[in-house]
Amino acid sequence: MESFFRYLPHIVWPSSCPVCGRLAVKICPECLESLSGHFSRFCVSCGRDAPCGAHPDGLVCRSVSVYSGINRDVVHAMKYSYCKAIALMMGEVMARILPKPGADFLVPIPLHKGGKREYNQAKLIAYGAGRIWNIPIKDCARWNVDRKSQASSLDKTSRALPSGVMTSNAGAEGKSVILVDDICTTGNTLLAAARALGEAGANPLGAMVWGRSV
Ligand SMILES: [Zn+2]
Ligand SMILES: [Zn+2]
Repeated sequence: MESFFRYLPHIVWPSSCPVCGRLAVKICPECLESLSGHFSRFCVSCGRDAPCGAHPDGLVCRSVSVYSGINRDVVHAMKYSYCKAIALMMGEVMARILPKPGADFLVPIPLHKGGKREYNQAKLIAYGAGRIWNIPIKDCARWNVDRKSQASSLDKTSRALPSGVMTSNAGAEGKSVILVDDICTTGNTLLAAARALGEAGANPLGAMVWGRSV
């Protein structure tokens, strides 16, 4: 009977660790940790290793893994299969690997306006890291446009998002912040958030993401 209950979640919601195949878990903590270790510190504007000569004052992001293969599946599960625990674990792993920043707040990248997602995985990652580092979270950035108009508003030449697509409400003026997201692909979202925080009087020290898209 005990084993029945142990495997009940697997029967109701089939799942197994994508790394080791263990049943009835979305992923084992040690297997998640094994997916990290591809540490990089890069310029968000151009993707080159930081510090970058072209953007000496540009936003620098730290990542602990590459967004491909099994890692892509795990990130997908975290976002779309209600695996909030994975996001928290990711944050904890990041906080153990990355140097603790001298920031007042961790600021998660917000969910898209009008989106259907039920929770913000970036916020959970920030909570996971923040509770290890003892740095509070400030959920103070907001999209002003929905995803569709965001895509069509991309500047054709610079491929950057225009000013005003994201804003930061009160709460971070004069504070130094680290932006947190799950994945960095083009870097446009992180740059838009850094600009919004800067316009609101905060000092974005840098960004951290679980995975970097290559
Ligand atoms: Zn496993
Ligand atoms: Zn650069």
